[in-house]
Amino acid sequence: MHMMNKMITLRSRPQGWPTNETFEFKETPVKQPEAGQIVVRSLYFSVDPYMRGRMNEGKSYIPPYKLGEAIVGGVVGEVIESRSDKFSPGDKVMGYLGWKLYNVVDIAEVRPIDEKIAPLSAYLGVIGMTGLTAYFGLMDIGKPKAGETVVVSGAAGAVGSIVGQIAKIQGARVVGIAGSDEKTKLLTDKLGFDAAVNYKTSPDLKAAIAQACPDGVDVYFDNVGGDVTDAVMSLLNDYARIPLCGAISSYNKEIGTDLRPSILTQLIKTRSMIKGFVLSDYSDRLEEGAQHLGKWLSEGKLNYEETIIDGFDQIPEAFLQLFKGTNVGKMLVRVTPDEK
Ligand code: NDP
Repeated sequence: MHMMNKMITLRSRPQGWPTNETFEFKETPVKQPEAGQIVVRSLYFSVDPYMRGRMNEGKSYIPPYKLGEAIVGGVVGEVIESRSDKFSPGDKVMGYLGWKLYNVVDIAEVRPIDEKIAPLSAYLGVIGMTGLTAYFGLMDIGKPKAGETVVVSGAAGAVGSIVGQIAKIQGARVVGIAGSDEKTKLLTDKLGFDAAVNYKTSPDLKAAIAQACPDGVDVYFDNVGGDVTDAVMSLLNDYARIPLCGAISSYNKEIGTDLRPSILTQLIKTRSMIKGFVLSDYSDRLEEGAQHLGKWLSEGKLNYEETIIDGFDQIPEAFLQLFKGTNVGKMLVRVTPDEK
């Protein structure tokens, strides 16, 4: 099979916001698979805020992307050629693969997925990385109890929208913070949040969150950091728990500008616990999380939203839109049928 491949590589490490200079589109022939390898045609690409961190140099929980190489992320695809008896053409798989139309990979790099259980895109969202992040961060660190108040920032996004719904299932009162009226309405009207605050239009954010949380805040699931987090911190109850999931407000700023010593005294006064985590901390418990999420989904207790952008060439732009907040729920890029 002789086919041309398209790929997107990291051309240069961005300082601040990524630009056109950050990414490079390349076309190369698709390699022939060797024994034990399969050719996967990409169907959906996950774009995620953490990818911005991997564009920087330096030590983190995951190595930086290499310059000149395809950017890697969650991909759902279809096997179109197999040199393994474990996979056949037509099988659907998920893996951390390159931003390429075709990935030629060892079979250990993918796992089979079943579209009879859930739509293919859900394996990159609600029952995939972002849903599992919501589950473990909230249940293992936040530990919400019935009647407590849980506040989640980035609430209409992939992780946040699932956090809020799981907290509701636990019997908590749930308040979401998000960046548009469309999003706050979605949270309260469709996803069952008790209240929601638009951080972009509230003239006094702390007062707005306080009004939505008359009994204070017991769990703050933080996806964004910065001013939003400062506003929530002053409302913590004693022994509050703060799963520190992300700090998207600082990802395009100079490294180090996300340090907010102003929150420390608040943690001391309330004897609260703040704990950073990454999903890979739970790699031996992923099945547990997937089972809970799958069960709630099948019982209709969990809804999920997706923003799907069509076209391989749109991947960098879809990624950038995460930082502008145009997505509702999980941001995905779908390869169109004519892109072969
Ligand atoms: P989202 O689907 O939530 O998309 C990002 C959202 O962030 C945007 O829609 C926007 O919503 C909001 N946002 C963007 N810029 C800002 C800003 N300056 N201030 C406040 N909000 C902003 O992405 P994910 O659900 O995939 O990720 C959410 C967070 O969780 C990220 O910080 C990410 O890095 C982190 N994460 C951590 C993981 C872990 O293992 N610890 C795993 C997965 C994600 P709005 O319109 O409301 O501004």
